Amino acid sequence: MTTAHPATSTERVPGRAWTIRLTGHSDRSATVSCTTAACRMPPRSKDLAARRAFAAQHAAAHAKAATVRSNAWCHCGSQQCSAHTEPVHCAGSVVLIVRHDPTVGQVWSVEEVCAACAPLIPHATVAARAARPRRTAEQPAAAVPAPARAAVPGGFSSPDTAPADGAPAPGRRSGRRPPRPQRRRTGQR
Ligand SMILES: [Zn+2]
Ligand SMILES: [Zn+2]
Ligand SMILES: [Zn+2]
Repeated sequence: MTTAHPATSTERVPGRAWTIRLTGHSDRSATVSCTTAACRMPPRSKDLAARRAFAAQHAAAHAKAATVRSNAWCHCGSQQCSAHTEPVHCAGSVVLIVRHDPTVGQVWSVEEVCAACAPLIPHATVAARAARPRRTAEQPAAAVPAPARAAVPGGFSSPDTAPADGAPAPGRRSGRRPPRPQRRRTGQR
């Protein structure tokens, strides 16, 4: 058994932030963008309500999927706490917040911030908190549920019904090609 050194195991990492933005266009259509380039966004649409709902759900999905890291720097503090007016020293545990100003209505932000900044940031809702680091082990709490096993599409399962062996292939003769079927008209060769 080796003792874990806190200096290395709790090395600070930059707080993460995702920004989901609803952008309106001159033809009254809208697009949704996410700062994570890998995220798939729906195409431009004139259904603003649907795009707005998608943006909100996408922000919530990021907040749900992200595991809050207890060693993250406060993202708010890294931005000179420009999100709030009251000065505060970053302290406390790390929380994940979702920011959305309904009067603006077009931007959703998911950020890792500290417990001191979180209550000062307007329009912020705490979505998750970092698991408290254990004193003995650095193992993350087993709070993340294992992904459900992918069910068979359609609900049926037929693992053993496929004819695997012994099935005589029709028209199998040695030295001769099987006659080419002539009913095809697709021209595929
Ligand atoms: Zn995204
Ligand atoms: Zn702050
Ligand atoms: Zn902070």
